[in-house]
Amino acid sequence: MALVTDSTRRFIKATSQPGNEHWNTLYEIGDKVPVSGIYRCQGCGHEITSNARDPFPPQNKHQHSDGAVEVLWQLIVMTQTK
Ligand SMILES: [Zn+2]
Repeated sequence: MALVTDSTRRFIKATSQPGNEHWNTLYEIGDKVPVSGIYRCQGCGHEITSNARDPFPPQNKHQHSDGAVEVLWQLIVMTQTK
């Protein structure tokens, strides 16, 4: 789970656009990262930071001991880079 402190909590806020596709899509290995931010694997809870337009980690960089558990990345925190 992504963490904040009492003093950094003020830099995080709920989006006014939760319906945007990047919040509601599960991304697979090799997909292109749509927006920079923190992504969480639905299969195991592991979190990664990824930059927009990079590919998500390849299969040899993130695997599950149970091969039946899919690696699917969900955006949980979008960073606002300039
Ligand atoms: Zn995983």
